Parts: sequence; structure tokens; C-alpha cells
Amino acid sequence: MTGPTPPEQLVDGFGRVHRDLRISVTDRCNFRCTYCMPEEGMQWMAREEILTFEEITRIAQVFVERYGVDSIRLTGGEPTVRAHLPVLVAKLAALGVELAMTTNGSTLRSQAQALADAGLRRINVSLDSLRRDRFLELTRRDELDRVLDGIEAAKEAGLDPVKINVVLVGGVNDDEVVDFARFGRDNDVTVRFIEFMPLDADGGWEHAQVVPQAEIVRRIEGVFPMEPVVRGHEPAEQWRYLDRPAGRPGASAGDVVGVIPTVTRPFCESCDRVRLTAEGQLRNCLFALDEFDLRAPLREGGTDDDLAAVMQRAVGAKWAGHAIGNVQFIRPRKSMSQIGG
Ligand code: SAM
Ligand code: SF4
Repeated sequence: MTGPTPPEQLVDGFGRVHRDLRISVTDRCNFRCTYCMPEEGMQWMAREEILTFEEITRIAQVFVERYGVDSIRLTGGEPTVRAHLPVLVAKLAALGVELAMTTNGSTLRSQAQALADAGLRRINVSLDSLRRDRFLELTRRDELDRVLDGIEAAKEAGLDPVKINVVLVGGVNDDEVVDFARFGRDNDVTVRFIEFMPLDADGGWEHAQVVPQAEIVRRIEGVFPMEPVVRGHEPAEQWRYLDRPAGRPGASAGDVVGVIPTVTRPFCESCDRVRLTAEGQLRNCLFALDEFDLRAPLREGGTDDDLAAVMQRAVGAKWAGHAIGNVQFIRPRKSMSQIGG
């Protein structure tokens, strides 16, 4: 996004400029995905611990106006279970950022239009199986049809592109790689496969369950020949189907497929993200062990300078990379739903 040069930038010790803010709006969810939450017994944050829309907007405003953050993604927990979400979307859209959301998609039939009208532009829907029985097993909810309908609703509401995020877990759903590729092609949505990360609810993650990027690409290519999309010097984590050349008439989001190799080929060196948890803690990495408190200064009458100082401290403390797979790697004690995936 172009605009006036911000007065300052959020630069870490490795020269990475931070422009992307992920905001978790709730830790709650209407699903119970096995790798993310136990079936029973989640301890939810108390209502007063969670930032209000005004508090979220104040923090976002400092990020945007002072530090030039130009992209904000709403997540959770499940963001759409937070009441009146379009009100927050409108407040954030007014900051002039590229606004996106990650959702399980189950409520989009009733919410997508209101969210789009409020200024949401892009959406990622998480979907790990196209088979009803497996979807039920993975999410503990029999809502595959609602999610598929939600994806249609998102398209109808003009959210563009609609991306489908598929976490592949070896031996669980990796036999659906080609089915998902076909789904993306047939439904004009960009499917992106995500390697399973050690942030699961029960600590049961094993390296052997990671389906590596190279394997995913090999399986798709066997059925739908494709070529890497080249961005800058590097081939990106996107492939284009050879029968869907760039610029073709009727081009669609389903002409490409993505693989996000967080584990086998981490993109830490170009990471420009910071995360705000639902209770107002700043995290400089998904796998960070420390958090930086923005809620206390916010609620104690702190100035924008006070908030900005916490942001600088958080980004300044960012490490080079998460080093999953190294013996030194320490798993955070939180799951994705508590961090804000
Ligand atoms: N509820 C929303 C959803 O499911 O899209 C947003 C929050 S969810 C925590 C964000 C994303 O994190 C989802 O795509 C989910 O599949 C992914 N996720 C959760 N735990 C994960 C893990 N251990 N490894 C990889 N992805 C994970
Ligand atoms: Fe809910 Fe998303 Fe976690 Fe599934 S992955 S339990 S939908 S927060």
C-alpha cells in the first residue's frame, strides 16, 4: 500500500521491517479441532480481560499511523464468534489498511456480506477435510456443509481472493492433497497447504507428521502439472497449473495453489509480523516464549508514546527464527487458538 511515509518504522535487530499485524479478537471457538483444543475443559479468558473494540482500534492506530503497518488480519479463536464483529471491521478499515480475516467459515453465510460491507477485503477459510466423517473427527463438529456454503457466501459477498488453508497432518488427511487441489480449481479459490506445526493442543506433535512441501508438490504435479510462480529472486511458495496460464481469459484464484513450509523451509528471514492476543499481549513470533503487555499501559491511561515504546521493545527483542527441528527449540505452552493463529 502506498501512502505518506510513517514517522518511524518497527525494525528488529535483523533489519526486518514490521508491517503486518495479526489481531486475535477472542480465544473462544465454536469448533474443537483436535490439534487446537481439547473437547472439554478449555479455560476461557474472562470478558474483562479481553480488549474492547475501542482498545483494539487504539493499538492498531498507533501501529498504522506511527509505524506504517499496512496490513491487518483478524483471527482468534474463531473471530466470527465475537459479537458485532463488523463494528470492529469498520473501525479498522477506517485506518486505511488492507484488512483480512482467518476463519473456520461456519458462520459466513450469515456474516460475510456484513463483514465485506464494513470493509473486510480478503478471507482465509480453514478447512482440513472434504470428507464429512473426517471433518467431524477433526473438528468435532458435523459442519462441513455449512463451511462449504460459507465459502460460497464469501465469494458472493465479493471477498477476493478467498483462500482455503489446509493443515496437513501425515496419516490423518494427507491422502486428500489432490482432492483439495481439484477443489480449488473447480471452485475458484486458492488452496494453500500448511505444514503441521508444534503448537497442537495436546503436545502430541511429531516431526514425522509433517508432510513436507516437496512431497505435497510432487503429489499434485502427478495429476495437475504446474510450475513455480517466481516472485523476485525466489520461486514463491505458489505454483501455477500449466493449463491455467497467467492472463488467460476467465483467470481465477483457483489457477494457483500454495504450500506454506513453516517447518521444512521457514520464512523467518522475511517475517514482518507481530501478533496481538485477545487480552492485549504483543508477541513477536508465533513460537515466542515472551509476551509484551499493551493492555496495562492502555488501561492505566498511557499515552501513544507509552504504547509505541512497548511495540518497539517487542519487535527489538525478536529472534532470528524459530528453529523448529533444532534440539534447542522450546515449544510455547499455548495453542494457536490462544495465541491467535
Ligand atoms: N478459528 C480460525 C480458523 O480456524 O481459521 C482462526 C484461528 S486458527 C487458530 C488459525 C489457523 O491456525 C487455522 O488455519 C488452523 O488450522 C491453524 N492451526 C492451528 N493449530 C495448528 C498447528 N498446530 N499447525 C498448523 N496450523 C495450525
Ligand atoms: Fe477453532 Fe480455528 Fe482452533 Fe479449529 S483451528 S478449534 S476453528 S480456533
